[in-house]
Amino acid sequence: MIIGTFTTIFVGIMDAMNLRGFSNVSQRRKALEKSLNIKLPNISHYSLDEKSAASKNCENMVGVAQIPLGVVGPLRVTGEKFNETFFVPLATTEGALVASVNRGCKAVTESGGTITASCRVGATRGPVFYTGNIRNEQRLYEWVKKNEQKLKKAAEGTSKHLKFKKLMFRGLAEYAFIRFAFDTQDAMGMNMATIATEKMIELIEKGTGILCISIAGNFDTDKKPAWINFIENRGYKVWAEATIKKVSAKEILKTSPEKIYDVWLSKNMIGSAMSGSLGFNAHFANIVSAVFIATGQDPAHVVEASMGITTAKITKSGDLYFSIYIPALMVGTVGGGTVLATQKEALSIMGIVGGNEGKNSQKLAEIIGGAVLSGELSLLASLAERSLASSHKKLGRGENSL
Ligand code: NAP
Repeated sequence: MIIGTFTTIFVGIMDAMNLRGFSNVSQRRKALEKSLNIKLPNISHYSLDEKSAASKNCENMVGVAQIPLGVVGPLRVTGEKFNETFFVPLATTEGALVASVNRGCKAVTESGGTITASCRVGATRGPVFYTGNIRNEQRLYEWVKKNEQKLKKAAEGTSKHLKFKKLMFRGLAEYAFIRFAFDTQDAMGMNMATIATEKMIELIEKGTGILCISIAGNFDTDKKPAWINFIENRGYKVWAEATIKKVSAKEILKTSPEKIYDVWLSKNMIGSAMSGSLGFNAHFANIVSAVFIATGQDPAHVVEASMGITTAKITKSGDLYFSIYIPALMVGTVGGGTVLATQKEALSIMGIVGGNEGKNSQKLAEIIGGAVLSGELSLLASLAERSLASSHKKLGRGENSL
């Protein structure tokens, strides 16, 4: 009885707070302000296309959350298909991050820049099917292999820009998982991959009578840390390397290649091993999340991009060979949040707005690789000189100048 009364009151409050009925952002925000007796003057202040954002990017929209945007650079990046100098936009609230990555960019660029490479592995979707037993699982596997071309055709029929790349099959007990990978050109591609997978599932179910339990069976693996993304890769895999001159380490990073090497070995390698970490790096997530937020990527994919390895070595001439590897970087320059005005402007800082036969998203992936390398370098140098606490005290607590 008491529980019933409580439920009625609770549902009543939820109904009063139901903000879905409002036809525009401002009415919804005003209703929220009224019901909570608060004012939201900053959330209500923005320039983006409210109609488009409310219909494509965010339901129940009441305004915007603003994040400060800085730039780092110039950063010289010699990619597979370009050799340019970039300013890279970073949106963050962590004081000292932009300054630190910027210092890394300076050391890298003054040492000749970073060389990058990348491979478009593609967006993945991994549905789970209920087979019931091992024999059915074998039957499903054989049907899928036999009809792969048919599945490819169905998937590619859903989009002008999507190409089916490959599938990977795994079964266990009563369940079977198929990880599909797609080239989605300049789009990060998760909506495209999901739509294409739905079409293939329809064919599989019709052809085998075996039903899909979930289109996303965690075999993708989307937005979760998982070794499968480290080993099989997802989105782009990206490499960046640079040889940091001894003099740049001394004058810009205020330390030496040997000291950076020591911190790298003890922290990134041994410390990560001691912790069972999925990433052998110092802070990939810091740089990736800041570029993601600035350029309209899906920030939840930072969890995958936070995995990766940094390597360091002292060269015969006493310089520092430094490299990073990101095994799963999901990025795009069309679709998703990249359509928002400020995010589009951030992409324009790097000259990669919109579609360009996959070249723009690939360039973004390699620029991120260069920025991640710069961020890794600067943080390890800062730790080597024990300046992490003092720089955050100075820059992260408002004691810096604009
Ligand atoms: P999308 O905006 O849904 O689709 C991209 C669109 O861009 C497609 O319609 C494609 O056209 C078009 N396009 C035009 N030029 C292109 C080019 N050069 N390269 C590629 N496509 C081009 O974006 P998406 O990348 O597929 O999905 C991103 C969104 O998915 C994000 O908002 C993210 O948060 C969300 N997401 C969804 C899921 C999910 O399960 N669905 C999971 C994670 C994230 P055609 O297809 O007509 O050719």
